[in-house]
Amino acid sequence: GFNCGIVGLPNVGKSTLFNALTKSGIDAENFPFCTIEPNVGIVPMPDPRLDKLAEIVKPQKVLPTTMEFVDIAGLVAGASKGEGLGNKFLANIRETEAIAHVVRCFDNDNVIHVANQVDPEADIEIINMELALADLDTVERAIQRLVRVAKGGDKEAIATKAILERIQPHLAEGQPLRSFGLDDDDKQQLKGFGFLTLKPTMYIANVNDDGFEDNPYLDTVRRIAAAEDAVVVPVCNQIEAEIAELEDEERAMFLDELGMEEPGLDRVIRAGYALLGLQTYFTAGVKEVRAWTVKVGATAPEAAGVIHTDFQKGFIRAEVIAYDDFVSLGGEQGAKDAGKWRLEGKEYIVKDGDVIHFRFNV
Ligand code: GDP
Repeated sequence: GFNCGIVGLPNVGKSTLFNALTKSGIDAENFPFCTIEPNVGIVPMPDPRLDKLAEIVKPQKVLPTTMEFVDIAGLVAGASKGEGLGNKFLANIRETEAIAHVVRCFDNDNVIHVANQVDPEADIEIINMELALADLDTVERAIQRLVRVAKGGDKEAIATKAILERIQPHLAEGQPLRSFGLDDDDKQQLKGFGFLTLKPTMYIANVNDDGFEDNPYLDTVRRIAAAEDAVVVPVCNQIEAEIAELEDEERAMFLDELGMEEPGLDRVIRAGYALLGLQTYFTAGVKEVRAWTVKVGATAPEAAGVIHTDFQKGFIRAEVIAYDDFVSLGGEQGAKDAGKWRLEGKEYIVKDGDVIHFRFNV
């Protein structure tokens, strides 16, 4: 599955967020929510389009698509030196595809801050420094390995070593590779190293319920994020934890009282989805209306492969109706009558919201 690791200093609200995420069972009765490991949560992707499709198709079941969030145990300064938990922390991050960095932007005298004061800039620096130093370690080891091969005249090794030497000082200053300005060729060349500071990152600014505006902590996070092209999602994890505990009806009432249209978690989940470059397509049969996840740019056979590898192997054609057409024309027959039903081949690039029926050989 596609996953996003939750990192941050201790006591910033990571577990509160993770617990809320794993409890927010959207359509819980239809969705067999499960936790594979205690620190991995499979979270249903909120998507109002599913309900619209279900209204038209009236299926027996409605299934959202999902995303994984991984709660990564607290990091402290010194982790990159590879002692104890720090090592495990970095190994865990290496396995995730994107990073959600929780930053404490709330005052609360009852919650001890590890450095005794709330300071988003310093907090972000500590984490980013550890990740940068871990990457620096990777770079230095790689350069050592490449020196000899490069001396032998190997062009590939010379080129790779040159890039590594370019990025080395940036990392040594504790700066993330995200902000180095690598072009696509550079990134391609560095892909195999799995650099932590090159993973798409969003900052989750954990604010108090009255901290969404006029909050200097939040402004600080926004300023830092803007400089490295990262996304900021302000959210009050404590309120989200309360919302997640409620049943559907109570939840709607509570959100109404708070003047919120949807749980803030939905924004977190969507931001994670976007960060990973994901999009959704639908299958809409009478048995089941279901959302599926593919990377932006996926072809029709690749999309079929998400359902079953046999669908991809035996792919013949995809019957496609755009979501807007499906809904405005009252379903498949209406779309057919209006000439909005298309047969697409294996070169077709799937679009967000496509309602697809695959034809395949078994
Ligand atoms: P972690 O160590 O990063 O996992 O932090 P926790 O999720 O355990 O949170 C640490 C403490 O901060 C807990 O007592 C939470 O109840 C509290 N907390 C978390 N989010 C908020 C928030 O948005 N506002 C306030 N006031 N307290 C929070």
